[in-house]
Amino acid sequence: MSVGIIFCWLDRHDPDRAKVKWDGTEYIGTCQRCGASIKREAHKKWRRV
Ligand SMILES: [Zn+2]
Repeated sequence: MSVGIIFCWLDRHDPDRAKVKWDGTEYIGTCQRCGASIKREAHKKWRRV
């Protein structure tokens, strides 16, 4: 388990850039640490969907 997973517990995720998609209104991605579906709220701020 990586230390970064702590950020996931705080709902601060880190997207797998290869899987990030623009759906017309927002960026949707998958967290590379915990695998959750996430969307971009602000620059470098990703929240679980
Ligand atoms: Zn995560």
